[in-house]
Amino acid sequence: MDAALRSLLDWYAEMGVDVPKVAPAKPVRRSLVKSKPDNAASPSASPIEPPAKPATDLSKIKTLADLHAVMNDFDAGVLGDGARQVVFSRGNPDADLMVIGEAPGRDEDIQGKPFVGRSGQLLDRMLAAIALGEEDFYVTNVVNWRPPKNRNPTKPEIDMCLPFLERHIALAKPKVLLLVGGISMSALTGVTGIMKNHGQWHDVTMDGTTYPALPLYHPAFLLRRPELKKDAWRDLLVLREKLLSL
Ligand code: URA
Repeated sequence: MDAALRSLLDWYAEMGVDVPKVAPAKPVRRSLVKSKPDNAASPSASPIEPPAKPATDLSKIKTLADLHAVMNDFDAGVLGDGARQVVFSRGNPDADLMVIGEAPGRDEDIQGKPFVGRSGQLLDRMLAAIALGEEDFYVTNVVNWRPPKNRNPTKPEIDMCLPFLERHIALAKPKVLLLVGGISMSALTGVTGIMKNHGQWHDVTMDGTTYPALPLYHPAFLLRRPELKKDAWRDLLVLREKLLSL
């Protein structure tokens, strides 16, 4: 059996969905979508306060490539010092769904792309379970530089990165946001507590545009707490319904 299909079936099985023990005779067709510990932030003090704001007026930036270039030139202070590069995005910038994670880890720092390590593989499997492939979503993070020693980003670091994220969202123009993890949820909605808010729609208003935003358990959290995968599965079905209704 194809490795991707095996891993998808494993994910279904872990979530309690009935799957055949024997490999299906034919590949499953992708057809659902037509055309995208609780790891909430526990900010720790950063030794040096990062710069508060980008020097450039971000509203003047008109393309994702230009935004990426401005971020490449930005002095992100302590964050930038420990990181190899800006971790900007992957996936399809024209997709309806924009996935927003927390901060890059080691693998992302090396490759310059978000969610390419172990938790990214699980995230991809989760989205594949509702028939979303990389052409159906666009991924970024709240924080675009890998925090030193993989610690959670601090509140000043999140605040420093938010103007970039807001411009990133405005340029990508998604129809739906998926907020992966407590840090992403609280940064964009102001709401805390992923355990009680996952799977519930929140409105995120930026620059006069309101986006429906769905918080989801972070895949790294699900790797530690696999018994919560069935809740994540329900949340993914909520997401699928929204995307199908667009
Ligand atoms: N976790 C995240 O939130 N983002 C990544 O890019 C990788 C791991």
